[in-house]
Amino acid sequence: MYKTKAYSAASATSPLARTTIPRRDPTERDVQIDILFCGICHSDLHQVRDEWKRVMPTIYQCVPGHEIVGRVTKVGPGVKKFKVGDLAAVGCMVDSDRTCPECREGMEQFCANLTLTYNFPDRHETAPVTYGGYSDSVVVDENFVLRVPPKLDLAGTAPLLCAGITTYSPMRHWGVSKGKKVGIVGLGGLGHMGVKFSHAMGAHTVVFTTSPSKVADARRLGADEVVVSRNADEMKKHAGSFDFILDAVSADHDIDAYLELLTRDGNLTLVGAPEKPLGVSAFKLIFGRRSLSGSAIGGIAETQEMLDFCGKHNITSDVEVIPIQKVNEAYERLLRSDVKYRFCIDMASLKAEAS
Ligand code: NAP
Ligand code: ZN
Repeated sequence: MYKTKAYSAASATSPLARTTIPRRDPTERDVQIDILFCGICHSDLHQVRDEWKRVMPTIYQCVPGHEIVGRVTKVGPGVKKFKVGDLAAVGCMVDSDRTCPECREGMEQFCANLTLTYNFPDRHETAPVTYGGYSDSVVVDENFVLRVPPKLDLAGTAPLLCAGITTYSPMRHWGVSKGKKVGIVGLGGLGHMGVKFSHAMGAHTVVFTTSPSKVADARRLGADEVVVSRNADEMKKHAGSFDFILDAVSADHDIDAYLELLTRDGNLTLVGAPEKPLGVSAFKLIFGRRSLSGSAIGGIAETQEMLDFCGKHNITSDVEVIPIQKVNEAYERLLRSDVKYRFCIDMASLKAEAS
């Protein structure tokens, strides 16, 4: 076991602050990664503030962070995929049971015995729960470590590990492709990746935003049309026309307004995970045989596929790189939708702090 620097929250109301956490020494199949960048996902904020207490109560201290890119510094004797000096990435999961039907089909994200990167019981008992990427280093089984495609900007690559896969996976599942009309609701960290993927997959892409200041950016990111969702007339023009809508909104909002934009058999997939339940009118689904579903990140193989897709299409996240000392300020700005479009922590700022 060794100690490493990190930022953690001590309670739902306390800011993130400097701490020291234990990490295991790499075992047979483990990879030790020196973290270079870690994205800030809105899930980090939900979890730190215990907003998901009904589903996943937070255990403190909480070290968030599941959009990790770094360099391998040590490998266990049985590691085959990585060697010291390689770039490596870790997303939302660090382990699963590997034997259940979900794991066997490459959908570890649905494994009943999944271990998330933070706030989950630590199988290795290094600490009561797993600790995430707002830290100097991390040790992860190689099966849950991803390869980083060459030439991509590393700060912009980190958010692909959650915001990227969470939008890529449902788009693949629901057949987003040329000839389809696709809506993306909420131009945040997830939403802006959704726009890039939908555009790269060839679909006619429409962004729905509450922020008129984001209209020009949405077009630059690949949107064919942009709708300011607070404008009812603009919304009406799209009634009954979408094959697929991806909802990436982090707060309470009216999803009926989007269900009625779906065509017959159209689907709305929720990836946003607001604190409170959302209301749905049965009639919005009944008329048009529309469906409403959800999606969680993506499996490990699909995450690698997404990273390789990004390498091929030169896709990264638009990031505002910050030092870790600004993480609490970043959370406040995230709540105001004031980030274009993902905060990413440069971990050199943590390394520069005294041990
Ligand atoms: P984010 O960067 O904060 O983006 C959320 C966007 O939602 C904002 O930029 C804003 O877009 C819109 N929005 C915010 N408040 C709103 C309101 N009151 N009404 C309407 N729109 C509002 O967050 P994120 O990191 O992309 O995460 C989005 C959600 O996905 C979070 O709930 C997060 O926990 C969840 N998530 C789920 C998964 C999964 O596996 N399913 C994975 C990661 C994250 P506009 O300014 O364009 O309106
Ligand atoms: Zn996330």
